[in-house]
Amino acid sequence: MTVKAYGAYAGDKPLEPLNIDRRTTQAHDVQIDIAYCGVCHSDLHQVRGEWAGTQFPCVPGHEIVGRVAAVGSHVSDFRPGDLVGIGCIVDSCKHCEECDVGLENYCDGMTGTYNFPTADAPGYTLGGYSQQIVVHERYVLRIRHPEEQLAAVAPLLCAGITTYSPLRHWGAGPGKKVGIVGIGGLGHMGIKLAHAMGAHVVAFTTSESKREAARLLGADETVVSHNAEEMKAHAKSFDLIINTVAAAHDLDMFVTLLKRDGTMALVGAPSSPHASPNVMNLITKRRSIAGSMIGGIPETQQMLDFCAEHGIVSDIELIGADQINESYERMLKGDVKYRFVIDNSTLN
Ligand code: NAP
Ligand code: ZN
Repeated sequence: MTVKAYGAYAGDKPLEPLNIDRRTTQAHDVQIDIAYCGVCHSDLHQVRGEWAGTQFPCVPGHEIVGRVAAVGSHVSDFRPGDLVGIGCIVDSCKHCEECDVGLENYCDGMTGTYNFPTADAPGYTLGGYSQQIVVHERYVLRIRHPEEQLAAVAPLLCAGITTYSPLRHWGAGPGKKVGIVGIGGLGHMGIKLAHAMGAHVVAFTTSESKREAARLLGADETVVSHNAEEMKAHAKSFDLIINTVAAAHDLDMFVTLLKRDGTMALVGAPSSPHASPNVMNLITKRRSIAGSMIGGIPETQQMLDFCAEHGIVSDIELIGADQINESYERMLKGDVKYRFVIDNSTLN
């Protein structure tokens, strides 16, 4: 089946309309008409070749929502017409230690939604900037939000789960002080989720203009990280900091804000490495710097249900496919409140 998509033929070329093939629906497959797809900073890193190994043409997009168009003969949990989502994972080995416990995101054989090897043409996966996608039922998520919120649900499939998972893993909740660094797509979801979990939330931003916005998102306090005095006031006080920044920066300025046994979980994935942190800052208070990658399929469903229950969606700017290139430039400037979402009907 040939469908319309938007992608790039090279890292230094803009994205443009192209046609791609989707496999015929197999027994365990769900075929989805994509309604909306979020624009993640990872899409930009990948399609511009900032991360190694991009295959071209590259069709990004892993914040996918839409309706089931058809199901394979062995699929019983989904029916045509159901509202569903696809995140960053479209396959995994299904039998390793990680898959067995629903942590497919840490399976060595995980197949990402774009730019990962697959038996389907053209030999690597193509993402959600497209009209349709065909995915094994195991990786299909159910959406329980009202349909009119569908576009704003899309970013939950990556930005939502990538912040939800470390917040849960490191125990964000009442009595815990949680920092969220960077108020972009991931960060704004991190603020909403940590607030809904009952933590005391402090947002860190480089943009003075986002101070008031962070409060509206649910931050109890906001710190402009360039301001040394403001930073000092929070020294040795955090249980957990989730760092979403998409560029290399000084990690020590945040490590020193952790209290004893505190953890900073890095989720931002810059293309160049951070300078080595000062080990003494870790040793002297038994602090940790950790990493976290998206979340497994069961936890992603749990996150979607938590968001439906608490009325949480992303703050979005809806765009047509012909605005994708412009949206990348604006994302690089931090000029988005707080996630661009593509209306996939404009791919026609
Ligand atoms: P985004 O919307 O561009 O947000 C990143 C935010 O970081 C910006 O809004 C800005 O916030 C801050 N920032 C950017 N450049 C900065 C700099 N040089 N110094 C300090 N702060 C800076 O990006 P996103 O979609 O949230 O993604 C963030 C990162 O997470 C990307 O690297 C992406 O690839 C990665 N990611 C990782 C995973 C995972 O599984 N670990 C999943 C998805 C995405 P302020 O204006 O508030 O400072
Ligand atoms: Zn993403």
